[in-house]
Amino acid sequence: MKLKRLILAGGGHAHVEVLRAFGAKPVPEVDVTLVTPEADTPYSGMLPGLVAGHYSWRESHIDLGALARYAGARIKPTRIVGINPGERQVLCADRRVLDYDLLSLDIGSTPPLNEIEGGDQHGVGVRPVESFLEVWTALCQEARERPLRVAVVGGGVGGVELSLAMRHHLRLESGLAPQTDLTLVTEGQSIVPDHSMGVRRSLQRALARNGVGLLTGLRVVRVDADGLTLEGGAKVPADCVIWATGAAAPAWLARSGLELDERGFVLVDETLQSTSHPGIFAAGDVATMRDHPRPKSGVYAVHQGPPLAENLRLALTGESLKRFRPQRRALALISTGGRHAVASRGGITFQGWWVWRWKNSIDRKFMARYVVGTK
Ligand SMILES: Cc1cc2nc3c(=O)[nH]c(=O)nc-3n(C[C@H](O)[C@H](O)[C@H](O)COP(=O)(O)OP(=O)(O)OC[C@H]3O[C@@H](n4cnc5c(N)ncnc54)[C@H](O)[C@@H]3O)c2cc1C
Repeated sequence: MKLKRLILAGGGHAHVEVLRAFGAKPVPEVDVTLVTPEADTPYSGMLPGLVAGHYSWRESHIDLGALARYAGARIKPTRIVGINPGERQVLCADRRVLDYDLLSLDIGSTPPLNEIEGGDQHGVGVRPVESFLEVWTALCQEARERPLRVAVVGGGVGGVELSLAMRHHLRLESGLAPQTDLTLVTEGQSIVPDHSMGVRRSLQRALARNGVGLLTGLRVVRVDADGLTLEGGAKVPADCVIWATGAAAPAWLARSGLELDERGFVLVDETLQSTSHPGIFAAGDVATMRDHPRPKSGVYAVHQGPPLAENLRLALTGESLKRFRPQRRALALISTGGRHAVASRGGITFQGWWVWRWKNSIDRKFMARYVVGTK
């Protein structure tokens, strides 16, 4: 029997579950390849905690090499830069061309820095995470030597959590005086507009209590070496601009021939398969479920892991695929810098130190699932 070739592009939140599931229960006659530019993938739930200093780098990253060995998959240490669905081929940045029978994409998204003048040259995106962490380490070093002004752009959960985590680390963890000016800028009339009034108020209070400046209803039109220019011409001086606004799709998808949504993400049906190309699956930020669109968030990527693993297994063995409906609303546990968090689900809000401990135990349990022995 001919081996079927499955390519997993990206070691995102859904693919780590595919690797774990294939390791736990191998699919016979399958050759699995993971294409990933990173040997370790960061877990989004722990990113703010890593920045705040609650977690080490190791605690907040999943070892893709170990997971791939467990699954009997080989790793290609590169990124995919295109696909040719007609020939069933993936094109890689290292010029390799890989043939597949089934392809699954879980390559995430990036902040749309290139949509703003000067964004690419002077802004720092929170993704790729490793580049952001390099800048963050350098920033912490610089903050020990001189007062700094840092602007974070984006009033969603990511931007708010990140600002509070940075503040916590700079002020408390390193024992520094609060010389670093931190300002959060958002074009929305309020922060976290997708959450209830109660959550917004709690997070606004947390920003104020921690001395993070907040500018709302202001659109950034340019980034340069001195900071931000807002619509209308006002300036926000900054030594470093961190970009944590919404998600943009990888540009090469526009040339892939796959059916995409209006923002350029891969449209998939309830089986997580491309609406235009059977045999190509997608999950996480890079995918939009045509009949159940959801916000681009790690929680939904995590929830798609088990149904994706099952459908890839069924597709490889020639069985009918199963339908998956994501939950309408997910519980968000939003950390506020210290070991404190705000919980949000629909209109329900609660907060406290115990919420952080709850979040911590959920996140650690998630990570423990992906620490696997080598077979
Ligand atoms: C600061 C911050 C905090 C956040 N906090 C939370 C939170 O608390 N809870 C939450 O639910 N969400 C959170 N999010 C959102 C969350 O990070 C994303 O929604 C989530 O990571 C998406 O998961 P994914 O599997 O789609 O992709 P990712 O986790 O981004 O993984 C994609 C992987 O694909 C790889 N890759 C990228 N391009 C290629 C390519 N061309 N070829 C091959 N591999 C590639 C990357 O290296 C990466 O390993 C946060 C985001 C930010 C920025």
